[in-house]
Amino acid sequence: MRTFLSRLAVVVVMLSPLTAIAQDASLDQVAKALGADGVKSIQYSGAGTNFQVGQNFSPDVPWPRFVVKSYTRAVNYENASIRDELVRTQGENPPRGGGGQPVAGEQRQIFVASGDFAWNVAADVVTPTPIALVDRQLQLWTTPHGFVKAAKANNATVQRRTIAFTSPGRFKALATVDTQNLVEKIDAVAPNAVLGDMPVEIRYSEYKDFGGVKFPTRIRQTIGGYPALDLTVTDVQPNIAVELAMPDPIKQTPAPYGKVATQMVADGVWYVTGSSHHSVLIEMKDHLILVESPLNDERAVAVLAEVKNLVANKPIKYVIATHHHFDHAGGLRAIAAEGITIIAHDVNKAFLEKALAAPATVRPDRLAKSGKKGTVEGTRDKRVLTDGTRTVEIHNVAGNNHHGGIVMVYLPKEKLLVEADVYNPPAPNAPPPASVNTNWVNLSDNIKRLSMNVDQILPLHGRIMPLAELHKSIGHNH
Ligand SMILES: [Zn+2]
Repeated sequence: MRTFLSRLAVVVVMLSPLTAIAQDASLDQVAKALGADGVKSIQYSGAGTNFQVGQNFSPDVPWPRFVVKSYTRAVNYENASIRDELVRTQGENPPRGGGGQPVAGEQRQIFVASGDFAWNVAADVVTPTPIALVDRQLQLWTTPHGFVKAAKANNATVQRRTIAFTSPGRFKALATVDTQNLVEKIDAVAPNAVLGDMPVEIRYSEYKDFGGVKFPTRIRQTIGGYPALDLTVTDVQPNIAVELAMPDPIKQTPAPYGKVATQMVADGVWYVTGSSHHSVLIEMKDHLILVESPLNDERAVAVLAEVKNLVANKPIKYVIATHHHFDHAGGLRAIAAEGITIIAHDVNKAFLEKALAAPATVRPDRLAKSGKKGTVEGTRDKRVLTDGTRTVEIHNVAGNNHHGGIVMVYLPKEKLLVEADVYNPPAPNAPPPASVNTNWVNLSDNIKRLSMNVDQILPLHGRIMPLAELHKSIGHNH
């Protein structure tokens, strides 16, 4: 033991001078190595793989994978704008999980953020997506050159080979710098509606020189612990003109998640719509049940206010969460902040409990401010909630490709079925899908298997559909 310790001491003594030689990184050196000061904008292109964060088939498997045939990111540092344009194809076989699977052929996607606005463009339709703003700002300011600029603007601290800064209320980022003073890794934390503080790890490697500007030709990211991007960069153009005009609908819709519309669909049952994701409110004798609290705090607050409008004198006892996908579970932290019990399929239970106990320090949300922890009750094949007058059945939607533990809610007396993502009805007058959607068939099979007597489906995306319409669109005639 003594010999070992004394040997160790010798090693430590011998190593210390070496450690002292490795100099601390400095922002100026990193800026110089990257050629960052002269870079006002940059565009880079490549191909690889990306993954849909928050859309895994179950909480314990990676995000679903897509093939990225082409990828172009344009960034303007002077007006804080970023635009991603991707062409993607289906990656998973079978098409397990969410994120718009299965992708038929090639799909073009455009994701933009400019200043304090974010939006998507798909088939010339512009959709405001403020929920994605922080993620895109993080992407903008964690590009190697963006990091240097943001670090300088936010009083970064340097410790050995790491440089760290906080963009208040948005994200935290820490870069590790290699011996050539190039950014090799970024560890960031961004606020997420489901995860609270969400870890983002970015690795930059295989730097090459593009007209005096260094840029990595391999970019890998993990988000929330699973791979999110693996990109091989083949073209980099510094200081190319990047002009992103803000479309009119974006300026006119600054808060799309606060808009609530309601429709009574049966006595004491309301379809709560107005945004991209709906909820359903069910009135019981002395309490209320809400199906789904989607998107984020902002949506949850708007829905809770509307619930109070509709039924002032009864508390919400349960919120039923159909599945853990982030767009559908993003309002659950606000629900937990109210002390309301959440019911979800067992497959989601441990994940949701962990998420509801997670800190949100970067941008404290309602749950973080409340100091509460969430309560999640599980369900498996079937759970029935009743008060003697109304019965609410929670059933597993078995055997679909969207999610391994997703529930639907059946009101037998009212002949109503609430479901999310298994059947998203097409827009009115949309042409029939080129091939039969297997998840639509799966929903129909589940309804049959459980001998449900359904008149109308209340989808949590889209609009109320008679069951007969679902049958028609999958070629069944009942
Ligand atoms: Zn989903």
